[in-house]
Amino acid sequence: MQAFEATSHYFDQAAELLDVPQNIRKLLVTPDREVRVEVVIELDSGEIGNFIGFRVQHDNSRGPFKGGLRYHPLIDQDEARSLASLMTWKTALVDLPYGGAKGGINCDPQKLSRKELERLTRKFTEKIHDIIGPFKDIPGPDMGTDAEMMAWIMTEYNKFEGFTPACVTGKPAEFHGSAGRKDATGYGVAVVAREMLATMKRQVRGSTVAIQGYGNVGSFAARYLHQQGAKIVAVSDAYGAVINTQGLEIAELDRHVAAARKVVGFKGGEPATNEQLLTMPVDVLIPAALGGVFNREVAQAVQARLIVEGANGPTWPEADEVFTARGIPVVPDILANAGGVIVSYFEWVQNLQHFRWPLEQIQREEERKLVDAFHHMWNFAQQRRVSMRCAAFAIAIDRVARAHALTGL
Ligand code: NAD
Repeated sequence: MQAFEATSHYFDQAAELLDVPQNIRKLLVTPDREVRVEVVIELDSGEIGNFIGFRVQHDNSRGPFKGGLRYHPLIDQDEARSLASLMTWKTALVDLPYGGAKGGINCDPQKLSRKELERLTRKFTEKIHDIIGPFKDIPGPDMGTDAEMMAWIMTEYNKFEGFTPACVTGKPAEFHGSAGRKDATGYGVAVVAREMLATMKRQVRGSTVAIQGYGNVGSFAARYLHQQGAKIVAVSDAYGAVINTQGLEIAELDRHVAAARKVVGFKGGEPATNEQLLTMPVDVLIPAALGGVFNREVAQAVQARLIVEGANGPTWPEADEVFTARGIPVVPDILANAGGVIVSYFEWVQNLQHFRWPLEQIQREEERKLVDAFHHMWNFAQQRRVSMRCAAFAIAIDRVARAHALTGL
């Protein structure tokens, strides 16, 4: 199964529940526009580097397209399509005035210098500047891209359109970015985990947590959950995992990661594999790396009481069925990691108003939006006796379908 098929499967389940007619379903799943561009740059060696960039604009019935840019060797049109559609459902679920998009460049950012990445990002922006913009499509960071790259996009876009900070989000806080954007997704994962644990009559304090992926999302989720008294017993990255059943010392781990650029080698825990991490007995398991990590076999081996999806698309439908059958609740990605796009929205609003909000206001508003959306989803799931994922998709589909009905064909 491909990523887009998996997302469409979840869409279909919810569309079935809502009794959405077939022709409307087709309208809702089909991307509005797909762009593929060749991006050619001069490498530091003097050789020519050929890369392929994508932008998939899925739906804009509720507002401009919105979604991240991923730099990864495995990103392709299918994955961008799946991630773009997830953005449509995510922005609708947390009620932002946006649609969904996603894009990226097929490259390995680890193998490119900062100068090469800058040339690549600027060339890509030059190629797609016509189809992005503050009221058309607003890119942001995702895996392999960071705040500085968003600043390159903004300055490149400005060459064509003049000063337009709202054309991209996730910029550095000191350069038209928002306070709290860097932490936003991980902070949101921690908020949603807390709300979900409360429905299970449990608390964050004393809960054990394993996190796959110690990048932006995973590391901030770890910090905020640790601050609330959770025991982070395992973390991992692309190179391997570290486990400490007594709880990892997060500040020390962060110092190690800042120096070594990986969790492996951290003296405050035992080395382990990603597979071991995913199947440990913990209260909360947070996938925060790539998509597609839970297949049927892994899902059968999982021993966590709760899964909170920090990553986009970590669960294949076959694994979702196993989790449902085994009674392991899964807080779906379109809610659990929506903190990032919520604060991106706040950044956009601040840029349009040329006004800055303080961090406390941003985190308070982010938390309020996530808590409201969580309870809406939770109550829907209880009333209709469906999974949280099905409830989340149903709420989102209903909102997008209504917007289409109001806009007309
Ligand atoms: P990142 O690049 O900062 O971090 C990714 C982490 O995953 C790194 O630690 C990397 O080493 C690790 N990783 C990569 N391959 C791995 C593997 N095979 N096994 C274990 N670990 C692996 O990316 P991020 O921004 O933290 O994004 C992580 C996930 O969260 C992605 O699925 C992304 O789409 C999703 N997400 C991110 C944001 C955001 O604001 N950054 C928002 C919503 C969703």
